[in-house]
Amino acid sequence: MRERFDRYNRQILLEGWGVDTQVRLRNSRVFVAGIGGLGCPVALNLALAGIGIIRICDSDMVDITNLNRQFLHRDVHIGAKKTSSAKECLRGLNPDSGIETIDKKITSENVNELVGDAQIIIDCLDNFEARYALSQCALKKGIPMIHGAVWGMEGRVAVFQPPHTPCISCVFPSAPESECTPVLGAVTSATGSMQAMEALKFLSGRKMALSGRMLIMDFEAMKFQELELVRNPSCPICRQS
Ligand SMILES: [Zn+2]
Repeated sequence: MRERFDRYNRQILLEGWGVDTQVRLRNSRVFVAGIGGLGCPVALNLALAGIGIIRICDSDMVDITNLNRQFLHRDVHIGAKKTSSAKECLRGLNPDSGIETIDKKITSENVNELVGDAQIIIDCLDNFEARYALSQCALKKGIPMIHGAVWGMEGRVAVFQPPHTPCISCVFPSAPESECTPVLGAVTSATGSMQAMEALKFLSGRKMALSGRMLIMDFEAMKFQELELVRNPSCPICRQS
């Protein structure tokens, strides 16, 4: 037992953590939607922390324009599946973590099957259609969804956990127009790490600080503000819950 957990010695020392929490993380299952700018730091931090199953879903191939921020993929992986390069890199970082890969686009038809028995969904996507599908799946399965987004020097993180909090459709009733967004690797790394922190708290039995709140981080001015998220009583997605 000791040898097996030596890798986690420094986090086991955290207050209220101990070997019991580490065993709990070892038995955890997480769904990471997208292994791009946010998905890379999310999966990296979950793997380092010893999460048992990290299920990564992405249908994209590695492109050279990804490489300023998506650090699980390298030049040699250009043109290959993102899930393959991510799996290879994560296994090298921590062979204890089970990495499952799914090379599919998330749709409202397949989302429940793809998420499977995961205990939490981490939204590292760049499009709202798939986000809405994930949000409905989270609501149906009664599991939380940790939302992350970046735009230029700004990062955002929120935890949606209806009926205790609003859902993503309460906050964004319609999809903003998608366009080619400016992105810096340091911004996605910081934002994704915050998503991973909330997931680790949840999986270790702690309270997620961002449940029902959105943290908006202006990395240019280094000023953070938060929004209290308000439930829309006529939200077509979560009003029944
Ligand atoms: Zn809602």
